[in-house]
Amino acid sequence: MQQSDTQAKAYEENAADFRKLDDQIHSMREAARARLMDNGWEPDPNDGIPCLACPCPDFEFGPNGRCGRGSCRHTFGAHDLPV
Ligand SMILES: [Zn+2]
Ligand SMILES: [Zn+2]
Repeated sequence: MQQSDTQAKAYEENAADFRKLDDQIHSMREAARARLMDNGWEPDPNDGIPCLACPCPDFEFGPNGRCGRGSCRHTFGAHDLPV
């Protein structure tokens, strides 16, 4: 019982940390998008999920949750995910 109580607390703290990470990635993505838009970039009208770290036009599921495009290979989170 003691054990699961402390585990529950640990899970809670982890969840809070991951929420913080999500927020950070979210604002990082916003900043990345703004930076690209300042330089003439426009969001893909075709519902693609372009990469924000390279000119990859649409995320492609690849190994290890990364983009499968050879020229990209950035993580899913580096792409312009729908909010
Ligand atoms: Zn990509
Ligand atoms: Zn990329």
